[in-house]
Amino acid sequence: MRAFPALPDATVLAEPELLEAFRHDESHIVGCLPLAVVRPHGPAALRELVRLAKAEGFGLVPRGAGTGKAGGCIPTARTVVVDLSAWPGSLSVSPQDLSLQAPASALLREVKAAASEAGFFYPPDPNSWESCALGGTLATNAGGPNACKYGMTRHWVLGLDVLLADGEIHRFGIRSVKANAGPNLAQLFLGSEGIFGLILGATLRLTPKPRDYTTLLLPVKRWMDLLDLPGRLSAAGFLPSAFEFFDPAVLAELRAHGPEEARRLPGEALAILEFDERGCTSDDFLEALADLLGPVADGLEMASDARQREGIWAVRRITSAFLKERHPKKVSEDIVVPRSRLREFFERLEGTGIPAVSYGHLGDGNLHVNLLAASDTAPAALEAQLMTLFRLATELGGTLSGEHGIGLAKRDAFLALAEPGHIETLRALKRSLDPAGIFNPGKVI
Ligand SMILES: Cc1cc2nc3c(=O)[nH]c(=O)nc-3n(C[C@H](O)[C@H](O)[C@H](O)COP(=O)(O)OP(=O)(O)OC[C@H]3O[C@@H](n4cnc5c(N)ncnc54)[C@H](O)[C@@H]3O)c2cc1C
Repeated sequence: MRAFPALPDATVLAEPELLEAFRHDESHIVGCLPLAVVRPHGPAALRELVRLAKAEGFGLVPRGAGTGKAGGCIPTARTVVVDLSAWPGSLSVSPQDLSLQAPASALLREVKAAASEAGFFYPPDPNSWESCALGGTLATNAGGPNACKYGMTRHWVLGLDVLLADGEIHRFGIRSVKANAGPNLAQLFLGSEGIFGLILGATLRLTPKPRDYTTLLLPVKRWMDLLDLPGRLSAAGFLPSAFEFFDPAVLAELRAHGPEEARRLPGEALAILEFDERGCTSDDFLEALADLLGPVADGLEMASDARQREGIWAVRRITSAFLKERHPKKVSEDIVVPRSRLREFFERLEGTGIPAVSYGHLGDGNLHVNLLAASDTAPAALEAQLMTLFRLATELGGTLSGEHGIGLAKRDAFLALAEPGHIETLRALKRSLDPAGIFNPGKVI
């Protein structure tokens, strides 16, 4: 293509040195150099961009903050990156409707802060919440520690504004939880990773802010006993708002090289357990919980104020970055295993001989399985290890991604392991919504 054409109401970057940064996200994949990066400031820019994409035959790759871990926002051949960080709009809360309106460009931390300032809570909390954009969390249906109680991003979306392949912005959904006038089309775009259209804004559902927290740092005597705890808590009527874990190998890394708080921890493995319902700080609640945890715990620490709670969570928050710093070429997966099969999963994983270490969201079975030695493993062997891991999760009734999505990183595995009818249905939807194939080509399916 000749020099990238001027666009109304947009900033266009076309100098190769400026485009370089857009070849990356937080995955291990490096994308192609895009034809350009476009930052639209209004609908006229998008209308013209869609027209040009169809006329010139290039694709449009949506990008939020670029913190994704599946290579979803990195350019494939002959694509333009649509960087939505300058998309206009402001945040507004409607207490009467228990809802919040926000543009895709808002950062998730701004959304959570606006809800909190109005006395409400917006639960989705990927560990990248301070840096990722709302649009990215919607497109990936982001999860996080709170998902074990509150569900994923899709549970908190009432409506969406979406750019479709006709070049126009359409609104799906209303400001109410009850809306049953036909299938819910907004839900179709949540977790679609930009392959059906561009999400430009959302109406989000809020809930009253929790007032009480019980946050426990739980060193565990025997690692395998921890794996039964999610099921035991559920059976006893406890619903944690977060239940995170660190396996013996990750705990050993943290103990040897991690922050001061981590170095003094006893136990074979570690968990963080949090409750946020009313009454969770009462003696009755804590006694019942202590009875249940007793046999598992090797002592425990309970946060008694916000600062201590923050200290406990800091250990979890640094884990991904800490492991990446120590093992820059590591490959990190985010499989899911039903809670009832966690023990079986780890026993069988050990049997495969794959050198994996794990941490993540035990409360909902979303496990971040990391291959730290990925750079010393031949590519074919690494591929085989990953397929073994995905197959194991699938055989146990789980799946190959709990929150990061498919993007480019897991596309081949997804196509190999998903039920053929699932892929064909997705492709039929893609053909119908995006017949020219302009939105995020080469991703997911
Ligand atoms: C340290 C760290 C911790 C993380 N922890 C979690 C976690 O706990 N849970 C979790 O779910 N994820 C986690 N992630 C992954 C990532 O942060 C989330 O997936 C986040 O939601 C991505 O947002 P983003 O704005 O950076 O999206 P990007 O990386 O820019 O894009 C992600 C995908 O969404 C598409 N997209 C982006 N914006 C739009 C839009 N407006 N319309 C249509 N498509 C769009 C892109 O094309 C791409 O496919 C983590 C990442 C890091 C680096």
